[in-house]
Amino acid sequence: MNTKTSPSVSFEFFPPHTAEMEVTLWQSIERLAALAPRFVSVTYGADGSTRERTHAAVARIIAETQLTPAPHLTCIDASRGEIDDIAREYWDMGVRHLVALRGDAPQGAGDYVPHADGYAYAADLVEGLRNVADFDISVAAYPEGHPEAPDAAYDLDNLKRKLDAGATRAITQFFFDADIFLHFRDRCGQAGIESAIVPGILPITRFTQLQRFAAMCGASIPDWLRDRFSGLDDDAETRQMIAASVAIEQVRHLEAEGIDEFHFYTLNRSELTYAICHALGVRSGRAAA
Ligand SMILES: Cc1cc2nc3c(=O)[nH]c(=O)nc-3n(C[C@H](O)[C@H](O)[C@H](O)COP(=O)(O)OP(=O)(O)OC[C@H]3O[C@@H](n4cnc5c(N)ncnc54)[C@H](O)[C@@H]3O)c2cc1C
Repeated sequence: MNTKTSPSVSFEFFPPHTAEMEVTLWQSIERLAALAPRFVSVTYGADGSTRERTHAAVARIIAETQLTPAPHLTCIDASRGEIDDIAREYWDMGVRHLVALRGDAPQGAGDYVPHADGYAYAADLVEGLRNVADFDISVAAYPEGHPEAPDAAYDLDNLKRKLDAGATRAITQFFFDADIFLHFRDRCGQAGIESAIVPGILPITRFTQLQRFAAMCGASIPDWLRDRFSGLDDDAETRQMIAASVAIEQVRHLEAEGIDEFHFYTLNRSELTYAICHALGVRSGRAAA
């Protein structure tokens, strides 16, 4: 008899900018909802219009699905009072899970400078949100270090501060070598972190775009990965197959090492994430894990 239970999964979406993107997002949400994710998170941008779109997407998820939404919130360009009000409004809508982040300075605005009356870092935000209501709070973790951290030990200490302030789990930045994550998980354990460290899995849709993205957030791209995608810039169909096989290898490797929870950066598309979940045994119609 097969007694193996399938892993728990969660999915990240971003708020759509156009009516067409809204349609794609909702097709993806509907398809992936069948996989009974633990929660679905919705990213948050620095400017006001993105904030409203995050709110609108979360409101629609609550109104039209049985999913547990987890809006992201950042410290950027808002006072503590403004952020607390947003959190209170979410609580009143029925939101019980938030992803608390510092955020980045808008492009071209130079280094990050905390808002004069704001939460300076994610650890401060977590503490503030805990005072607003009894939210389940996720925070970000960086297996290869956050680009602004003076060193890896400082960054790990920062993660511990966020968890000690009341966050319940950390979701990692994407990475491609499973060993990078496994080494990070070991370091978290050695630092006394007992909360779940959930690997963030990025199915690769466009390799050129990924290279830019990875450079900005300090994620490394191994040579073997470059090699797998080389020559496929104009061949979307083969790229999709390679992307699925790369991510399936990655999650199966992690699963063999005891990882039983995965967070997917869906980029609002369902195809790759659905296929990878299928390979993990996460099938349509199961009860939420
Ligand atoms: C899972 C995930 C989801 C994300 N979602 C979003 C999103 O929706 N919107 C968005 O804008 N961005 C998002 N980001 C990006 C994130 O906002 C950036 O990576 C940002 O640069 C750091 O956010 P943080 O919450 O990790 O910050 P923090 O944990 O506050 O750390 C930021 C940096 O500051 C350092 N630091 C911490 N405390 C101090 C201190 N007291 N003094 C000096 N330095 C300190 C840390 O070591 C680190 O280098 C996401 C990232 C991840 C991994």
